[in-house]
Formats: sequence, C-alpha cells, structure tokens
Amino acid sequence: MRCRDSVIMIKSSGIVIGTHNKNKKKEIRKILNGISLPLLDLEDFDDAPDVIEDGVTFEENAAKKALQLARFCNMCVMADDSGLEIDALDKRPGVFSSRYCGKETGYEEKCLKLFEELNGVPFDKRTARFRCAIALAESEKLHFVVEASCEGLINTELLGKNGFGYDPIFYIPEFKQTMAELGSDVKNRISHRALALNLFKERLMEFMK
Ligand code: IMP
Repeated sequence: MRCRDSVIMIKSSGIVIGTHNKNKKKEIRKILNGISLPLLDLEDFDDAPDVIEDGVTFEENAAKKALQLARFCNMCVMADDSGLEIDALDKRPGVFSSRYCGKETGYEEKCLKLFEELNGVPFDKRTARFRCAIALAESEKLHFVVEASCEGLINTELLGKNGFGYDPIFYIPEFKQTMAELGSDVKNRISHRALALNLFKERLMEFMK
C-alpha cells in the first residue's frame, strides 16, 4: 500500500493498540488523546494471537508484534516492547526481562536474583536503563519504530510500592528515589514508555500530514 493510501486508511479506520495490558492501554490512550483518530484495542478483536517475542532487540520485537497483529486485525497496529538493561550484566535481562528466571517467577524473586548477580559491583557501576520501542505497521509494511530510554542505577535494596516489575530496584539519581517510590504522575512523565509514546505521537502526526 502506498503511504497516501495508508494515511487515508488510518484517518478513516484508526489505529489498533496492540496490547492486552490494561495499564499500558490507559497510558497510551492518555498520551495519544488529542490526535482525533479512532483508537481500538485488542479487546475489539476475538482471539488476537500472542506474538512470540523472539527478537534480539526491543525494536525487532515491537516491529514483529505490530506486523503480525496488523495482519490479524487487517488494520494499522501500534505495538511496543520494553525491558531493563544493566550494563554490568552485558545489558541483561534486556529483551528477556519478563522471562528472567522464568516467566512464572515473581518480581521480588527476579529482583533478588539480580542483586545476587550484581554482588560486589559498586553502586556507581550499577548503571542501567529501561528501554521502550514502539512500532506502527500495516499487514505488509512497517511504517516506523521509535525508541526511548530512562537512565538509572540498580539499587541495593527493594524500595517503594508503586509501579510494577523492576520499579523497586530502579533508582533515579535526579529524584533520589526508586521508580516504585515515585508517584504515577512523575513516572508517566519521565518513563521510557512515556518518552517513547511522545515520540510516537510526533512521528504519527508527521506521517499523517
Ligand atoms: P513488555 O514490554 O510488556 O514485554 O515488558 C517486558 C518486561 O520489562 C516487563 O515484564 C517488566 O519486567 C519490564 N518492564 C518494562 N517496563 C517496565 C517498567 O516501567 N517498570 C518496571 N519494569 C518494566
């Protein structure tokens, strides 16, 4: 499909948010609010497949998800992939963040295992980042992928009750707190996902011109 046809299709049918995750959907809708396009999500389609995230980068996984879901929905789909990279661990767990120590293992245990792996690494060498890639695709065409990150350090103890996943061990020097100690209003301003979503919004508006 030529880009002009894609733009016409997006303007008339909108975009599908390619996730089942309620929190992500809420955040995406909040940030994309104001671009006056119909926004559907996977709940609008029966039996949307679970795409296997076997890429070696976040960008690859986001693109694969967006393309496969676009074929399934026969519409334009945005999809994301995110995770935690730790420099002292050669950027692990990275794309394996949700599967680190096994998918069924709880996050407290995953975090404790990371502490074990980082045993002896001085605080200033525990540099890390959350990364998020978001892709927009149609059945046979990847339109674009954007990527953003949020820098921090891996703390030496779990702190804070907000957020999810690795938030309690992700210390942000600027706020002198872990991501799980920050309120959702601050997290939704500085997080990798919020930054990537804002970039996505900019690219989408350019694409639609
Ligand atoms: P996905 O993008 O849903 O595949 O996320 C992959 C994994 O990365 C999640 O299961 C978490 O382990 C981790 N992750 C991604 N974003 C965050 C975040 O904002 N806070 C904490 N962990 C995160």
